[in-house]
Amino acid sequence: MLFDTHTHIDQAEFDACRPEIVQRARAAGVTQLIAVGCSVAESEKCLAIAREYTGVYAAVGIQPNYVAQAQASDWSRIEQLAGEPGVVAIGETGLDRYWDHTPFPDQQDYFERHIQLAAKRELPFIVHMRDCEAEILEMLRAAHQQCGKLQGVMHSFTGDATLAAACVELDLHISFAGMLTFKNAAPLRDCARIIPLDRLLIETDSPYLSPVPVRGKRPNEPSYLPHTAACLAELRGLSLEQLAQQTTANAERLFGLQ
Ligand SMILES: [Zn+2]
Repeated sequence: MLFDTHTHIDQAEFDACRPEIVQRARAAGVTQLIAVGCSVAESEKCLAIAREYTGVYAAVGIQPNYVAQAQASDWSRIEQLAGEPGVVAIGETGLDRYWDHTPFPDQQDYFERHIQLAAKRELPFIVHMRDCEAEILEMLRAAHQQCGKLQGVMHSFTGDATLAAACVELDLHISFAGMLTFKNAAPLRDCARIIPLDRLLIETDSPYLSPVPVRGKRPNEPSYLPHTAACLAELRGLSLEQLAQQTTANAERLFGLQ
């Protein structure tokens, strides 16, 4: 049984086929998944979806690229949603220097808010990172000093082994998506070999970046997760069953589902 820790199955392209997407996931052994919001509207939709399907949970937050569009009242709505049953994480949050949709100081302000809200609610937070490793680490280290133990996940991890080790040091989990299977991702696979087993998570990040052998197929969907799981199992010298059991147990522990 696999746990897809990061999906965007709320997106409109799944509206007409969501029951089949969830059904196909279950048939592929993906019995639990998180629908992750990037805005208030998406977070509300993720929660509605979580309430509709067994094994589907919601994360609520405002993704850094969406912070500039957020209304003043949006943050208090996220704070409200964080207390709703079915919400298992805060995010996605983080920092992004690749796109220029939101001024960087505003991204940092919202990242800090998400970290604080997660601590207050005793929920994990979900970190998006693109082209800003040093800045992310700086804020995570400050939060670690302030809050003590951090509960969170570096989602769709693409950093190097040094960054991964620093994140593990800060109590964080590392989640690998389909990029792990890409031909040119040897450094990422080297990194995946050294993460402590009890910090490993897997995800599809659907509808983006389908894993090999369905690379290029869009949308990516949770039923493709076994491809990434098989790749990671081979890297770690585990059977697919062992890898599934370990990563699912890790996800259930982190997201409070035991
Ligand atoms: Zn995402």
